[in-house]
Amino acid sequence: MGLYTRTQFVEYFEKHSNLIVILVDINRFSAINNLHGEAFGNKVLRYVGILLYRHFCGNGVNVCRYAADQFALSCPTMDVEKVDVLVDEIRDKLERQFYISGQQMTLNVNIGYALPSSAASGIHLMAQAYYALSSAKSLLSPSTVRYSEYLEKHIGRKYRLGVELKRAIDAKQLHVEYQPIYDLESKRVVKFEALARWTRNGEAVSPFEFIPIAEELGYINQLGNLVLSIACRDLKLLRDRGHDDVQISVNRSIQELTNESIDDCSILKIIHESGLSTSDIVLEITESIPLEDKPEVQELLGDLRRKGLKLALDDFGTGFASFSNLMKNTVDILKIDRTFIRDIESDKNNAVLVQSVNMLATGLGLDVIAEGVETEGQLKRLQAMGCKFIQGYYISRPVVFEQTLAFLE
Ligand code: C2E
Ligand code: MG
Ligand code: MG
Repeated sequence: MGLYTRTQFVEYFEKHSNLIVILVDINRFSAINNLHGEAFGNKVLRYVGILLYRHFCGNGVNVCRYAADQFALSCPTMDVEKVDVLVDEIRDKLERQFYISGQQMTLNVNIGYALPSSAASGIHLMAQAYYALSSAKSLLSPSTVRYSEYLEKHIGRKYRLGVELKRAIDAKQLHVEYQPIYDLESKRVVKFEALARWTRNGEAVSPFEFIPIAEELGYINQLGNLVLSIACRDLKLLRDRGHDDVQISVNRSIQELTNESIDDCSILKIIHESGLSTSDIVLEITESIPLEDKPEVQELLGDLRRKGLKLALDDFGTGFASFSNLMKNTVDILKIDRTFIRDIESDKNNAVLVQSVNMLATGLGLDVIAEGVETEGQLKRLQAMGCKFIQGYYISRPVVFEQTLAFLE
Protein backbone atom coordinates (compact mmCIF):
# COMPACT_ATOMS: atom_id res chain seq x y z
CA MET A 1 0.00 0.00 0.00
CA GLY A 2 1.29 3.44 -0.83
CA LEU A 3 0.89 5.12 2.54
CA TYR A 4 3.79 7.34 3.53
CA THR A 5 5.60 6.67 6.76
CA ARG A 6 5.76 9.55 9.17
CA THR A 7 9.38 10.26 8.17
CA GLN A 8 8.59 10.26 4.45
CA PHE A 9 5.63 12.48 5.08
CA VAL A 10 7.65 15.04 7.02
CA GLU A 11 10.41 14.93 4.37
CA TYR A 12 7.92 15.55 1.61
CA PHE A 13 6.48 18.31 3.65
CA GLU A 14 9.83 20.02 4.13
CA LYS A 15 10.51 19.92 0.37
CA HIS A 16 7.20 21.45 -0.69
CA SER A 17 5.73 24.72 0.38
CA ASN A 18 2.09 25.80 0.36
CA LEU A 19 0.65 22.52 1.56
CA ILE A 20 -2.45 21.98 3.62
CA VAL A 21 -2.20 19.48 6.48
CA ILE A 22 -5.18 17.47 7.65
CA LEU A 23 -4.89 15.25 10.72
CA VAL A 24 -7.49 12.57 11.34
CA ASP A 25 -7.84 10.79 14.67
CA ILE A 26 -10.13 7.83 15.29
CA ASN A 27 -12.38 8.57 18.21
CA ARG A 28 -12.17 6.10 21.11
CA PHE A 29 -9.86 3.77 19.24
CA SER A 30 -8.56 2.31 22.49
CA ALA A 31 -12.07 1.05 23.18
CA ILE A 32 -12.00 -0.93 19.91
CA ASN A 33 -8.69 -2.50 20.95
CA ASN A 34 -9.99 -3.29 24.42
CA LEU A 35 -13.27 -4.67 23.20
CA HIS A 36 -12.16 -6.69 20.17
CA GLY A 37 -8.45 -7.22 20.70
CA GLU A 38 -5.42 -5.69 19.08
CA ALA A 39 -5.43 -7.89 15.99
CA PHE A 40 -8.91 -6.61 15.23
CA GLY A 41 -7.80 -3.04 15.97
CA ASN A 42 -4.97 -3.42 13.47
CA LYS A 43 -7.45 -4.55 10.83
CA VAL A 44 -9.51 -1.43 11.48
CA LEU A 45 -6.43 0.75 11.07
CA ARG A 46 -5.54 -1.04 7.86
CA TYR A 47 -9.07 -0.50 6.61
CA VAL A 48 -8.86 3.22 7.36
CA GLY A 49 -5.46 3.48 5.66
CA ILE A 50 -6.68 1.75 2.52
CA LEU A 51 -9.84 3.83 2.43
CA LEU A 52 -7.96 7.11 2.69
CA TYR A 53 -5.42 5.96 0.14
CA ARG A 54 -8.00 4.76 -2.42
CA HIS A 55 -10.22 7.81 -2.20
CA PHE A 56 -7.85 10.66 -1.65
CA CYS A 57 -4.31 9.82 -2.80
CA GLY A 58 -3.08 11.25 -6.09
CA ASN A 59 -3.23 14.73 -7.60
CA GLY A 60 -0.65 15.89 -5.11
CA VAL A 61 -2.43 14.44 -2.08
CA ASN A 62 -0.37 12.23 0.24
CA VAL A 63 -1.61 10.07 3.04
CA CYS A 64 0.44 8.87 5.97
CA ARG A 65 -0.06 6.79 9.10
CA TYR A 66 0.99 9.51 11.50
CA ALA A 67 0.63 7.88 14.89
CA ALA A 68 -1.13 4.90 16.43
CA ASP A 69 -4.66 5.87 15.45
CA GLN A 70 -3.89 9.05 13.56
CA PHE A 71 -3.57 9.64 9.86
CA ALA A 72 -2.24 12.72 8.10
CA LEU A 73 -3.02 14.04 4.64
CA SER A 74 -1.20 16.79 2.83
CA CYS A 75 -2.50 18.48 -0.28
CA PRO A 76 -1.67 21.47 -2.43
CA THR A 77 -3.24 24.67 -1.26
CA MET A 78 -6.79 25.49 -2.43
CA ASP A 79 -9.70 27.75 -1.51
CA VAL A 80 -10.96 27.46 2.03
CA GLU A 81 -14.38 26.35 0.77
CA LYS A 82 -12.78 23.51 -1.17
CA VAL A 83 -10.80 22.39 1.85
CA ASP A 84 -14.01 22.28 3.86
CA VAL A 85 -15.60 20.10 1.18
CA LEU A 86 -12.59 17.79 1.18
CA VAL A 87 -12.59 17.50 4.95
CA ASP A 88 -16.32 16.73 4.96
CA GLU A 89 -15.70 14.06 2.34
CA ILE A 90 -13.00 12.46 4.46
CA ARG A 91 -15.31 12.39 7.45
CA ASP A 92 -18.17 11.07 5.36
CA LYS A 93 -16.13 8.19 3.93
CA LEU A 94 -14.64 7.22 7.28
CA GLU A 95 -17.87 7.33 9.23
CA ARG A 96 -19.73 4.93 6.94
CA GLN A 97 -20.61 1.51 8.22
CA PHE A 98 -18.23 -1.31 7.30
CA TYR A 99 -17.51 -4.92 8.22
CA ILE A 100 -14.39 -6.50 9.64
CA SER A 101 -14.29 -10.24 10.28
CA GLY A 102 -18.08 -10.27 10.03
CA GLN A 103 -18.37 -7.57 12.66
CA GLN A 104 -20.33 -4.45 11.78
CA MET A 105 -18.47 -1.26 12.66
CA THR A 106 -18.87 2.49 12.46
CA LEU A 107 -16.13 4.93 13.36
CA ASN A 108 -16.19 8.53 14.42
CA VAL A 109 -13.26 10.79 13.72
CA ASN A 110 -11.84 14.06 14.96
CA ILE A 111 -10.18 16.22 12.35
CA GLY A 112 -7.81 19.14 12.73
CA TYR A 113 -6.31 20.99 9.81
CA ALA A 114 -4.12 23.96 9.02
CA LEU A 115 -3.74 26.14 5.93
CA PRO A 116 -0.39 27.55 4.79
CA SER A 117 -1.75 31.10 5.04
CA SER A 118 -1.48 30.89 8.81
CA ALA A 119 2.13 29.68 8.65
CA ALA A 120 3.34 33.23 9.22
CA SER A 121 2.61 32.82 12.91
CA GLY A 122 5.90 31.03 13.48
CA ILE A 123 4.26 27.82 14.62
CA HIS A 124 5.06 24.93 12.29
CA LEU A 125 2.11 23.95 10.11
CA MET A 126 2.24 20.38 11.38
CA ALA A 127 2.04 21.69 14.95
CA GLN A 128 -0.85 23.93 13.96
CA ALA A 129 -2.78 20.96 12.60
CA TYR A 130 -1.95 19.10 15.77
CA TYR A 131 -3.25 21.92 17.98
CA ALA A 132 -6.42 22.06 15.87
CA LEU A 133 -6.83 18.31 16.32
CA SER A 134 -6.36 18.54 20.09
CA SER A 135 -8.93 21.27 20.17
CA ALA A 136 -11.37 19.08 18.16
CA LYS A 137 -10.74 16.19 20.54
CA SER A 138 -11.49 18.35 23.55
CA LEU A 139 -15.02 19.03 22.33
CA LEU A 140 -17.85 16.83 23.51
CA SER A 141 -18.65 15.18 20.20
CA PRO A 142 -16.36 14.25 17.29
CA SER A 143 -15.54 17.50 15.50
CA THR A 144 -13.53 19.27 12.85
CA VAL A 145 -11.41 22.29 13.81
CA ARG A 146 -9.40 24.56 11.54
CA TYR A 147 -6.34 26.22 13.03
CA SER A 148 -7.01 29.92 13.33
CA GLU A 149 -5.69 33.05 14.98
CA TYR A 150 -8.22 32.58 17.73
CA LEU A 151 -6.87 29.15 18.47
CA GLU A 152 -3.36 30.54 18.45
CA LYS A 153 -4.20 33.18 21.04
CA HIS A 154 -5.87 30.54 23.11
CA ILE A 155 -2.85 28.28 22.85
CA GLY A 156 -0.63 31.20 23.80
CA ARG A 157 -2.55 31.63 27.04
CA LYS A 158 -2.75 27.91 27.57
CA TYR A 159 1.00 27.61 27.21
CA ARG A 160 1.67 30.44 29.66
CA LEU A 161 -0.83 29.08 32.16
CA GLY A 162 0.74 25.66 31.84
CA VAL A 163 4.17 26.94 32.82
CA GLU A 164 2.87 29.02 35.73
CA LEU A 165 0.52 26.36 37.00
CA LYS A 166 3.38 23.91 37.34
CA ARG A 167 5.30 26.48 39.37
CA ALA A 168 2.28 27.16 41.56
CA ILE A 169 1.75 23.45 42.23
CA ASP A 170 5.43 22.92 43.06
CA ALA A 171 5.28 25.82 45.50
CA LYS A 172 1.98 24.50 46.90
CA GLN A 173 0.34 27.79 46.05
CA LEU A 174 -3.02 26.33 45.12
CA HIS A 175 -5.65 26.46 47.76
CA VAL A 176 -8.95 24.74 48.38
CA GLU A 177 -12.48 25.96 48.96
CA TYR A 178 -15.29 23.89 50.36
CA GLN A 179 -18.91 23.74 49.31
CA PRO A 180 -21.41 22.20 51.73
CA ILE A 181 -23.61 19.28 50.72
CA TYR A 182 -26.88 19.45 52.59
CA ASP A 183 -29.17 16.65 53.72
CA LEU A 184 -32.78 17.75 53.21
CA GLU A 185 -34.10 15.13 55.63
CA SER A 186 -31.86 15.68 58.63
CA LYS A 187 -31.46 19.37 57.68
CA ARG A 188 -27.72 19.20 58.22
CA VAL A 189 -24.53 19.70 56.26
CA VAL A 190 -23.15 16.18 55.90
CA LYS A 191 -20.26 16.69 53.50
CA PHE A 192 -18.07 19.32 51.91
CA GLU A 193 -16.78 19.17 48.36
CA ALA A 194 -13.17 20.31 48.08
CA LEU A 195 -12.60 22.51 45.02
CA ALA A 196 -9.18 23.54 43.77
CA ARG A 197 -8.48 27.27 43.53
CA TRP A 198 -5.67 29.03 41.74
CA THR A 199 -5.05 32.76 41.90
CA ARG A 200 -2.63 34.07 39.30
CA ASN A 201 -1.49 37.69 39.44
CA GLY A 202 -4.40 38.45 41.71
CA GLU A 203 -6.94 36.93 39.32
CA ALA A 204 -8.75 33.66 39.99
CA VAL A 205 -8.36 31.19 37.12
CA SER A 206 -11.33 28.82 36.78
CA PRO A 207 -10.76 25.11 37.42
CA PHE A 208 -12.63 24.57 34.15
CA GLU A 209 -9.57 26.15 32.54
CA PHE A 210 -6.64 24.93 34.64
CA ILE A 211 -7.73 21.34 35.35
CA PRO A 212 -7.66 20.33 31.65
CA ILE A 213 -4.26 22.02 31.30
CA ALA A 214 -2.88 20.06 34.24
CA GLU A 215 -4.29 16.90 32.67
CA GLU A 216 -2.81 17.59 29.28
CA LEU A 217 0.61 18.52 30.60
CA GLY A 218 0.80 15.56 32.94
CA TYR A 219 0.74 17.15 36.37
CA ILE A 220 -2.85 16.50 37.31
CA ASN A 221 -1.73 13.78 39.76
CA GLN A 222 0.48 16.22 41.59
CA LEU A 223 -2.39 18.72 41.68
CA GLY A 224 -4.87 16.11 42.87
CA ASN A 225 -2.54 14.99 45.65
CA LEU A 226 -1.96 18.56 46.77
CA VAL A 227 -5.72 19.16 46.98
CA LEU A 228 -6.24 15.86 48.79
CA SER A 229 -3.56 16.58 51.37
CA ILE A 230 -4.97 20.05 52.08
CA ALA A 231 -8.47 18.58 52.37
CA CYS A 232 -7.25 15.84 54.71
CA ARG A 233 -5.39 18.35 56.89
CA ASP A 234 -8.56 20.47 57.13
CA LEU A 235 -10.83 17.52 57.81
CA LYS A 236 -8.49 16.43 60.60
CA LEU A 237 -8.97 19.87 62.16
CA LEU A 238 -12.75 19.38 62.01
CA ARG A 239 -12.37 15.94 63.59
CA ASP A 240 -10.29 17.46 66.38
CA ARG A 241 -13.16 19.83 67.08
CA GLY A 242 -15.50 16.91 67.47
CA HIS A 243 -17.16 16.86 64.05
CA ASP A 244 -17.00 13.13 63.63
CA ASP A 245 -19.44 12.37 60.88
CA VAL A 246 -18.77 15.01 58.26
CA GLN A 247 -16.93 13.83 55.13
CA ILE A 248 -14.98 15.62 52.43
CA SER A 249 -15.20 14.75 48.78
CA VAL A 250 -12.42 15.40 46.30
CA ASN A 251 -12.52 15.35 42.52
CA ARG A 252 -10.49 13.01 40.35
CA SER A 253 -10.69 12.53 36.64
CA ILE A 254 -10.40 9.08 35.15
CA GLN A 255 -7.23 10.14 33.42
CA GLU A 256 -5.77 11.07 36.79
CA LEU A 257 -6.31 7.56 38.05
CA THR A 258 -4.57 5.78 35.19
CA ASN A 259 -1.19 6.28 36.87
CA GLU A 260 -2.22 4.82 40.21
CA SER A 261 -1.88 1.24 41.36
CA ILE A 262 -3.61 -0.18 44.38
CA ASP A 263 -0.41 -1.48 45.99
CA ASP A 264 1.24 1.90 45.93
CA CYS A 265 -1.73 4.23 45.91
CA SER A 266 -0.98 7.88 46.68
CA ILE A 267 -4.61 8.49 47.63
CA LEU A 268 -4.55 5.86 50.36
CA LYS A 269 -1.13 7.00 51.55
CA ILE A 270 -2.21 10.62 51.94
CA ILE A 271 -5.38 9.66 53.78
CA HIS A 272 -3.53 7.42 56.21
CA GLU A 273 -0.62 9.80 56.74
CA SER A 274 -3.15 12.47 57.72
CA GLY A 275 -4.48 10.23 60.45
CA LEU A 276 -7.80 9.71 58.69
CA SER A 277 -9.45 6.59 57.39
CA THR A 278 -10.80 5.79 53.93
CA SER A 279 -14.40 6.20 55.07
CA ASP A 280 -13.70 9.91 55.68
CA ILE A 281 -13.15 10.67 52.02
CA VAL A 282 -15.38 10.47 48.97
CA LEU A 283 -13.88 10.35 45.50
CA GLU A 284 -15.88 12.22 42.86
CA ILE A 285 -15.19 10.79 39.44
CA THR A 286 -15.87 12.68 36.25
CA GLU A 287 -16.11 10.57 33.15
CA SER A 288 -14.02 12.74 30.86
CA ILE A 289 -13.46 9.50 28.99
CA PRO A 290 -15.77 6.50 29.26
CA LEU A 291 -14.88 4.30 32.18
CA GLU A 292 -15.32 1.25 29.94
CA ASP A 293 -12.26 2.39 27.99
CA LYS A 294 -10.11 2.04 31.10
CA PRO A 295 -10.50 -1.43 32.62
CA GLU A 296 -7.43 -0.84 34.83
CA VAL A 297 -9.07 2.26 36.37
CA GLN A 298 -12.29 0.32 36.90
CA GLU A 299 -10.30 -2.28 38.75
CA LEU A 300 -8.52 0.33 40.88
CA LEU A 301 -11.83 1.97 41.79
CA GLY A 302 -13.23 -1.41 42.79
CA ASP A 303 -10.20 -2.00 45.04
CA LEU A 304 -10.51 1.46 46.60
CA ARG A 305 -14.17 0.83 47.37
CA ARG A 306 -13.35 -2.47 49.01
CA LYS A 307 -10.91 -0.53 51.17
CA GLY A 308 -13.77 1.70 52.34
CA LEU A 309 -13.59 4.73 50.07
CA LYS A 310 -16.95 5.91 48.73
CA LEU A 311 -17.23 6.77 45.05
CA ALA A 312 -19.45 9.44 43.55
CA LEU A 313 -20.23 9.72 39.86
CA ASP A 314 -19.97 13.45 39.15
CA ASP A 315 -21.80 15.55 36.54
CA PHE A 316 -24.24 12.76 35.73
CA GLY A 317 -26.08 13.46 32.50
CA THR A 318 -23.18 15.15 30.72
CA GLY A 319 -20.12 13.84 28.92
CA PHE A 320 -19.84 10.11 29.02
CA ALA A 321 -21.36 9.52 32.45
CA SER A 322 -23.62 6.64 31.69
CA PHE A 323 -26.26 4.41 33.19
CA SER A 324 -24.07 1.37 32.80
CA ASN A 325 -21.99 2.36 35.83
CA LEU A 326 -25.11 2.59 37.97
CA MET A 327 -26.39 -0.76 36.91
CA LYS A 328 -23.05 -2.45 37.46
CA ASN A 329 -22.91 -1.33 41.07
CA THR A 330 -19.63 0.52 40.68
CA VAL A 331 -20.49 3.72 42.58
CA ASP A 332 -22.14 4.76 45.86
CA ILE A 333 -23.28 8.28 45.07
CA LEU A 334 -24.72 9.97 42.02
CA LYS A 335 -24.41 13.69 41.42
CA ILE A 336 -26.94 15.02 38.94
CA ASP A 337 -25.33 17.76 36.86
CA ARG A 338 -26.53 21.29 37.40
CA THR A 339 -27.63 21.72 33.78
CA PHE A 340 -30.60 19.50 34.66
CA ILE A 341 -31.41 21.34 37.86
CA ARG A 342 -31.20 24.82 36.32
CA ASP A 343 -34.59 24.80 34.64
CA ILE A 344 -36.23 22.06 36.61
CA GLU A 345 -39.17 24.40 37.29
CA SER A 346 -39.82 25.39 33.68
CA ASP A 347 -38.65 22.41 31.66
CA LYS A 348 -40.91 19.44 32.14
CA ASN A 349 -38.51 17.04 30.44
CA ASN A 350 -35.68 17.91 32.81
CA ALA A 351 -38.00 17.55 35.76
CA VAL A 352 -39.08 14.08 34.61
CA LEU A 353 -35.49 13.11 33.99
CA VAL A 354 -34.31 14.23 37.42
CA GLN A 355 -37.20 12.50 39.12
CA SER A 356 -36.66 9.26 37.24
CA VAL A 357 -32.91 9.23 37.74
CA ASN A 358 -33.43 9.92 41.44
CA MET A 359 -35.91 7.06 41.70
CA LEU A 360 -33.75 4.63 39.77
CA ALA A 361 -30.55 5.47 41.64
CA THR A 362 -32.22 5.46 45.04
CA GLY A 363 -33.78 2.12 44.16
CA LEU A 364 -30.31 0.81 43.39
CA GLY A 365 -29.17 1.90 46.82
CA LEU A 366 -27.25 5.02 45.82
CA ASP A 367 -27.29 8.44 47.45
CA VAL A 368 -28.35 11.13 45.01
CA ILE A 369 -27.02 14.70 45.18
CA ALA A 370 -28.57 17.44 43.06
CA GLU A 371 -25.87 19.92 42.03
CA GLY A 372 -26.25 23.61 41.33
CA VAL A 373 -29.35 24.32 43.40
CA GLU A 374 -29.65 28.10 43.29
CA THR A 375 -33.22 28.93 44.33
CA GLU A 376 -35.77 28.00 46.92
CA GLY A 377 -38.10 26.96 44.10
CA GLN A 378 -35.59 24.38 42.89
CA LEU A 379 -35.08 23.12 46.42
CA LYS A 380 -38.84 22.68 46.95
CA ARG A 381 -39.17 20.90 43.65
CA LEU A 382 -36.35 18.50 44.48
CA GLN A 383 -37.74 17.89 47.93
CA ALA A 384 -41.12 17.01 46.43
CA MET A 385 -39.38 14.51 44.16
CA GLY A 386 -37.85 12.79 47.16
CA CYS A 387 -34.33 13.97 46.45
CA LYS A 388 -32.30 13.71 49.63
CA PHE A 389 -29.10 15.72 49.14
CA ILE A 390 -28.50 19.08 47.54
CA GLN A 391 -25.52 21.28 46.80
CA GLY A 392 -25.47 24.75 45.31
CA TYR A 393 -25.36 28.48 45.79
CA TYR A 394 -28.74 28.41 47.55
CA ILE A 395 -27.12 26.65 50.49
CA SER A 396 -23.74 28.27 50.00
CA ARG A 397 -21.05 29.12 47.49
CA PRO A 398 -17.71 27.39 48.02
CA VAL A 399 -16.05 28.98 51.06
CA VAL A 400 -12.60 29.05 52.66
CA PHE A 401 -11.97 26.49 55.36
CA GLU A 402 -12.41 28.93 58.25
CA GLN A 403 -16.03 29.40 57.23
CA THR A 404 -16.90 25.70 57.13
CA LEU A 405 -17.19 25.61 60.90
CA ALA A 406 -20.12 28.00 60.77
CA PHE A 407 -22.12 25.32 58.92
CA LEU A 408 -21.42 22.74 61.57
CA GLU A 409 -21.65 24.70 64.78
P1 C2E B 1 -17.74 19.90 39.93
O1 C2E B 1 -17.01 18.80 40.59
O2 C2E B 1 -19.03 19.54 39.28
O3 C2E B 1 -17.93 21.02 41.03
C1 C2E B 1 -19.05 21.83 41.13
C2 C2E B 1 -18.82 23.12 40.41
O4 C2E B 1 -20.06 23.82 40.31
C3 C2E B 1 -17.88 24.07 41.16
O5 C2E B 1 -17.23 24.85 40.18
C4 C2E B 1 -18.86 24.90 41.96
O6 C2E B 1 -18.32 26.15 42.35
C5 C2E B 1 -19.98 25.07 40.96
N1 C2E B 1 -21.26 25.32 41.61
C6 C2E B 1 -21.69 24.83 42.79
N2 C2E B 1 -22.95 25.23 43.07
C7 C2E B 1 -23.34 25.99 42.02
C8 C2E B 1 -24.56 26.69 41.71
O7 C2E B 1 -25.51 26.72 42.46
N3 C2E B 1 -24.61 27.35 40.52
C9 C2E B 1 -23.55 27.36 39.66
N4 C2E B 1 -23.69 28.03 38.52
N5 C2E B 1 -22.40 26.71 39.93
C10 C2E B 1 -22.28 26.02 41.09
P2 C2E B 1 -15.68 25.08 40.16
O8 C2E B 1 -15.17 25.21 41.55
O9 C2E B 1 -15.43 26.15 39.18
O10 C2E B 1 -15.12 23.70 39.63
C11 C2E B 1 -15.35 23.30 38.33
C12 C2E B 1 -14.96 21.87 38.09
O11 C2E B 1 -13.54 21.73 38.13
C13 C2E B 1 -15.50 20.92 39.14
O12 C2E B 1 -16.82 20.59 38.82
C14 C2E B 1 -14.55 19.75 38.99
O13 C2E B 1 -14.95 18.91 37.94
C15 C2E B 1 -13.26 20.43 38.60
N6 C2E B 1 -12.37 20.48 39.76
C16 C2E B 1 -12.34 21.36 40.79
N7 C2E B 1 -11.36 21.04 41.67
C17 C2E B 1 -10.78 19.91 41.19
C18 C2E B 1 -9.70 19.07 41.65
O14 C2E B 1 -9.08 19.25 42.71
N8 C2E B 1 -9.36 17.99 40.87
C19 C2E B 1 -10.04 17.72 39.71
N9 C2E B 1 -9.66 16.66 38.99
N10 C2E B 1 -11.05 18.47 39.25
C20 C2E B 1 -11.41 19.56 39.99
MG1 MG C 1 -17.33 17.41 41.86
MG1 MG D 1 -20.33 18.16 39.34
